[in-house]
Amino acid sequence: MTSASLENRASALNKQLESLDLGDRLALVSGLEGKVVFTTSLGIEDQVITAAIGSANLGIEVSTLETGRLFSETVALVDETEETYGILIKRFYPEQDDIDAFAAKYGMNGFYDSVEARHACCGARKVKPLARALEGASFWITGLRRGQSGNRADTPFAEADLDRGLIKINPLADWGIETIRAHVERQAIPVNPLHARGYPSIGCEPCTRAIKPGESERAGRWWWENDEKRECGLHVPETAASAIPQSNSLSSSIAR
Ligand code: SF4
Repeated sequence: MTSASLENRASALNKQLESLDLGDRLALVSGLEGKVVFTTSLGIEDQVITAAIGSANLGIEVSTLETGRLFSETVALVDETEETYGILIKRFYPEQDDIDAFAAKYGMNGFYDSVEARHACCGARKVKPLARALEGASFWITGLRRGQSGNRADTPFAEADLDRGLIKINPLADWGIETIRAHVERQAIPVNPLHARGYPSIGCEPCTRAIKPGESERAGRWWWENDEKRECGLHVPETAASAIPQSNSLSSSIAR
């Protein structure tokens, strides 16, 4: 599909999805031709989507990125969610060569020292595994919401991801955090216990802290960086993937 036709299709889908509720949004996408992948971080938004997929038994592949630096609470929630909804959550891990190359260049926790190093770590542990999770996918479902940060304020329901050659679907784009919390309580959806301890957004353990009153939902992610638009590269792919240190063993896989 050309870039123009991908954008036209995404635009049409965006209009279609706008008037639907969450279940119908997901059902519509799961009925389209092509592979549909939902990648979950096990955050509260993603648990809402997983519950909707599992409860309706939709033909959507559910995957997660096991970065190797997650909170133990997050890892435990993967198993609990599988059991609750009777689904399989596919785990995608970083490649050891990439971890070794990062550690050799920056040190295992070198992501605190520079934005470049942080992008390189996210590239190795998240962006490259994500590329494997999305192999062959025509549609990628995410839990992005407009209220999560200023950087996400214009999140549409469907958008062309030209780098990956697919359409990204954000079925919770217009949900506020209070709507999410009420839905979770009503449906008894299992969520990460860290949310109740001041972590609205949860990523890797060394890069996530609880937020303070008045801070934005994502203020606890990479808090030592000043850039208000900081992201891990999953949704701005060129940032992180290009920052992974090159080595003979991984240069070919980075090029893919
Ligand atoms: S969030 Fe932190 S530990 Fe996780 S991949 Fe990014 S830099 Fe590495």
